[in-house]
Amino acid sequence: MQVLKFGGTSVADATNISRVLDIVSKAATRDRVILVCSAIAGCTDALLEIARSEGAVRDTLLASLRTKHEHIASRLFTGAERAEVLAELDGLFGELAKAPADETVTFGELLSTRIIARKLACDGIATKWLDSRILVIKGHQELTYNNISTAVALEPGVQVFVAPGFIASEYDGRHTTLGRGGSDLSAALYAAATKASRLEIWTDVPGIMTANPKQVPAAKTIPEMSWQAASDMASHGAKVLYAPTVAPAMEAGIAIHIRNTFEPEGPGTVVTTMTEGKAPEWVGVTGMDDTLKGESLLCLVGDGPVNGEAACKRVEGCLRKSGIRTLSISSDGTNIYATVRLAVVGQALEAIHREFFEVAPLTRLNLYIAGHGAVGKALEEMIEASRDTIAERTGKDLCIEAISTDRGFAEKVREQAPRGSIFVDVTDSPDIWRSYEGLLREGVNIVSSNRRSFAVPFVDYAAMHAAAQENGVFLRYETTVGSALPILESIAAGTNSSDEITSLEAVVSCTLNRILSAYTLTPDTFAGIVRKAQEEGLTEPDPRVDLSGREALRKLLILAREAGVPLEEEDVELDSLIGPEYFDIPLDEFYRKLEAAEPEFRAREDAADAKRCRQRFVASLVKDASAPLGYKASIRVECVDANHPAYRLKGTENAIIIRSTMHPYPLLIQGPGEGARLAASSVLNDILR
Ligand code: ADP
Ligand code: ASP
Ligand code: MG
Repeated sequence: MQVLKFGGTSVADATNISRVLDIVSKAATRDRVILVCSAIAGCTDALLEIARSEGAVRDTLLASLRTKHEHIASRLFTGAERAEVLAELDGLFGELAKAPADETVTFGELLSTRIIARKLACDGIATKWLDSRILVIKGHQELTYNNISTAVALEPGVQVFVAPGFIASEYDGRHTTLGRGGSDLSAALYAAATKASRLEIWTDVPGIMTANPKQVPAAKTIPEMSWQAASDMASHGAKVLYAPTVAPAMEAGIAIHIRNTFEPEGPGTVVTTMTEGKAPEWVGVTGMDDTLKGESLLCLVGDGPVNGEAACKRVEGCLRKSGIRTLSISSDGTNIYATVRLAVVGQALEAIHREFFEVAPLTRLNLYIAGHGAVGKALEEMIEASRDTIAERTGKDLCIEAISTDRGFAEKVREQAPRGSIFVDVTDSPDIWRSYEGLLREGVNIVSSNRRSFAVPFVDYAAMHAAAQENGVFLRYETTVGSALPILESIAAGTNSSDEITSLEAVVSCTLNRILSAYTLTPDTFAGIVRKAQEEGLTEPDPRVDLSGREALRKLLILAREAGVPLEEEDVELDSLIGPEYFDIPLDEFYRKLEAAEPEFRAREDAADAKRCRQRFVASLVKDASAPLGYKASIRVECVDANHPAYRLKGTENAIIIRSTMHPYPLLIQGPGEGARLAASSVLNDILR
């Protein structure tokens, strides 16, 4: 047996009743059906009004109700059948007119189900109308079950039983009802009595939803929920299910399926026994108005034990953000209860719903990545691995639109990428910067780890920044100095907030400092250490690129410009570790020459040692009124003593020491400054900042 119950809206007119008949006849091909129906929409309210009124008013109300039903009958039937239904309705309205006031309300379900039962029979389905007033005895479950099962057993040939919902009898035989919304309970009683294989409650919404969709349009259908949660939702205001319905269904172990008559293919909600050990979660939010007090009791329904105190705070907090004061708040360990003024109930429900059931839409970040070397690959991996976590934490969805090593890539991105996209330069191309301005002017943001792009002549550097500013896009390149250390950010923040740099010392060349440290700590020759570093891949393929100090020069240009000093290459006094004679010769000759100069290197090292100093390759910018830019810039090997922060730098560490009007005691930023993953994380940070 299957029990299908249709509510008032589902049987509101001939068109809707036809939908119901379609659903029922389809179900009847699978198994026998007990069809439980409500009165047509608005009928119960009208009957209660009729019971309260007299004379002409009562007559008018009765006539209107009669017209509605006759209209439905006329639409559904023709010829002799129509005449028979109209005659039956005439009989029922005759009884209704004479009925005692407290029984008036029981006629709605009689009217609707008589019409529907007749229509099914006319359609050739073996149908029997069951009188719920005889079978359902209020408050006597066992007796009711006996009555129903006997009545059904007596009619093995019937395919569809039609029973009025809502109505019943007291034990003494007086007609009564199961309470407003009680047809749902009627259905559960019929289902439990017949040990039905299925109980479906068809209504005008897609299921039990996270809130009443009439109050909270963003409400979503809950696919599955526990008996307890359904009961809590129902008893605290979710009218979609009459709360007393849950108990008999649960006792009989029959799941309740809530379905939408107007979208019969929809999945609906299943109320059933949930798997044990399921994590507690929030189910929905309901409201119950107390018009006398002018308040509404809101209930945030949970499934399983919750941290009540934290949840109360969260509820209060989200209401406060919407400008709503909570009159009271409490938790019973599963649900949270809050009272608010009736006037703000709609906003309050929306606020709680937003906080607990709506995910803010993600901001999509379209990434176009130029370069696929070590940093590019690490970045790609990192994004793939943490895309979901990042989305959860930041609300940003990182979408890699393209990765390319193609020379023309930047131009293609400029032509095709939507505004607001991010061009990520993880190449070490010497001329890709020429595309930056065009990209920025097309509204494309840029994140770059490519140092060369910012060591260009100052006019070009300034033009890029102007393009970014004018077009409301960003140009970020924190990775270019000290990798993931927040160096540029700190300098820019200080400079922009009217701090003035007095000196800046940067120990930012990992390779050189590693070579210098190794020379201090091992007995190897300087040439031997350089060769080893080259073999380990720590230097550029030609180690002279590192020894020349050009990388440090680029970093110093970037640092100075970030500090507001328009430094150019020519302004820097560069003392590279090796003289010009080391450069224009083949590599093996270079090593021989270096080996020959070992006494010189050793002497320098010993001299430093004698002063208890260590050699460090330092780029510095020092305020100097006599210099054309007001600053003197230099890069050289310096002997630093034990008080200098760079003295103890290890391995790949970088350090920058900033003295400014605001930092008379130097600000020291120090930490690892090398490695593809570190660089990738810094690029990612720039993307998300
Ligand atoms: P029926 O006449 O089919 O029994 P009801 O009017 O009794 O229908 O119940 C359905 C109504 O319940 C919906 O139209 C909806 O406005 C209201 N409702 C309240 N809370 C909820 C909720 N959480 N989920 C779905 N519907 C809800
Ligand atoms: N018709 C009754 C009511 O409006 C019962 C029901 O529809 O469930 O309350
Ligand atoms: Mg209802």
